[in-house]
Amino acid sequence: MRRDLVALLLVLSSCAPSGPLDVGYHGDDAGYVAALEAANAWNQTCGADLVNVHRGDGEIDLREQEGITHNAYGETTFERPILNAVGPREPVAIWFMSGWHALPVLTHEFGHALGLGHADSGIMDPHVASGFDALDPATGNTTLAPGMITAETCKQVTR
Ligand SMILES: [Zn+2]
Repeated sequence: MRRDLVALLLVLSSCAPSGPLDVGYHGDDAGYVAALEAANAWNQTCGADLVNVHRGDGEIDLREQEGITHNAYGETTFERPILNAVGPREPVAIWFMSGWHALPVLTHEFGHALGLGHADSGIMDPHVASGFDALDPATGNTTLAPGMITAETCKQVTR
């Protein structure tokens, strides 16, 4: 009985996600630029190919939303495939509020999709991630402020 369970867990772990998140973007150019920038922030800071954003369909469906929904600026939804009921949750969709919030919100949501929960500071702080504090005044708020993603944050990525 126990041996069967071990075998089952081995099969499940072999189905675990690998490679970068495959994010298919649907929206306007400004949001697309923000999504590419957010992916870059993770890939460059962590020195790994973690998030791949492209237009059209992907394993994760990324869409813009006008205005605030559910009192949030963005949201990542997960599913467990039925045949993999005890396996890892897979991110399936992300929506985000269009506008200047897009970069910090998308970077934050990609963090969730990469397996991270909330933190007291940095990009996974749910409050900072939706505000100007997350953006770099040196670049006119078009890029993420230095230190929003730390080496410690990178270590927590489960992908
Ligand atoms: Zn969050």
